[in-house]
Amino acid sequence: MPEIHDVVIIGSGPAGNTAALYTSRANLKPIVYEGLQPGGQLTITTDVENYPGFPEGIMGPELMDRMKAQCTRFGTRYEPWTVRSVDLASWPFQFTLDTGEVGHARTIIVATGATAMYLGLENEIRLQGYGVSACATCDGFFYQGKTVGVVGGGDSAAEEAAFLTKFADVHLFVRRDALRASKIMQQRVADNQRITVHWSTSVIDVLGKDEVTGVRLADNTDGSERDMDLDGLFLAIGHKPNSAAFADWVDTDETGYILTAADSTATRVPGLFAAGDVQDHVYRQAISAAGSGCMAALEAERWLENKGYEALPQREL
Ligand code: NDP
Repeated sequence: MPEIHDVVIIGSGPAGNTAALYTSRANLKPIVYEGLQPGGQLTITTDVENYPGFPEGIMGPELMDRMKAQCTRFGTRYEPWTVRSVDLASWPFQFTLDTGEVGHARTIIVATGATAMYLGLENEIRLQGYGVSACATCDGFFYQGKTVGVVGGGDSAAEEAAFLTKFADVHLFVRRDALRASKIMQQRVADNQRITVHWSTSVIDVLGKDEVTGVRLADNTDGSERDMDLDGLFLAIGHKPNSAAFADWVDTDETGYILTAADSTATRVPGLFAAGDVQDHVYRQAISAAGSGCMAALEAERWLENKGYEALPQREL
């Protein structure tokens, strides 16, 4: 008889870890498949100033390490693999890892998060890792004393631009005449002498043969174009939910965010729950992801109780 997990959690960001915390404390012995980016998006951020309980702020990677340690303490098992596909046609569910290994689960919590978006320009893709990046905290250090561009107008763009000024002069390219970022981040951009904001400006090409040497810009008010020399270009234009492995089974919106029932993490498939950025296009915060991870855990626990599976003979965990 194959091992059947009570709870399989796919993804290891704040949502996955919080689901693990609650289900492990409920003695459901969850297993977490960490995926390609263990710890999720917070592992590529620096200071997290808005996670409650850390008055001085905390570094993103440290916060995730602490979450993992807390869950491990209660018996969560972490595996470094990615879940490639799921088969939800029968129950217990079946899933396949990138290793080819097949596993079985009574409930699955999808907490796969979201991935940074790119503009989709041919040269931008070609020069990824050669001056084009979507992670200022990973790559900013390489630009000491240089000049870089940041694309975007949200909190990420504002935060990355401010962070990059530790190393470089920063040009922020905003496609509209306003920032979407929160007021406090807008003020931080305005107050920072090393950030030059280019309003109503789009990056329409990335220049450079072997590495980035500049960008071609379009003025969105009159359509005029100009080139600017730069040593690097950072994208901060939002994220795409990592829902492809589940798209055949659950409902998604047009962007791919998994749709859940109102005030719930339940998906269209009974026993399959979705938490965090893969289902939340509104708040997208570490704390709201953690909150929905908690909801998913409690809902999975209740679902298992209502199913009365405890009486089933195959429960060997
Ligand atoms: P957002 O979706 O909030 O912002 C994306 C930005 O990129 C917008 O300004 C958008 O422009 C711009 N954009 C999108 N597509 C393009 C394009 N093709 N070309 C040029 N510009 C483009 O994403 P963020 O990643 O900034 O933030 C996501 C969430 O995370 C938000 O809720 C944010 O508040 C939160 N966050 C919070 C932080 C904090 O509190 N410290 C830090 C980082 C993120 P437009 O405005 O015209 O649509």
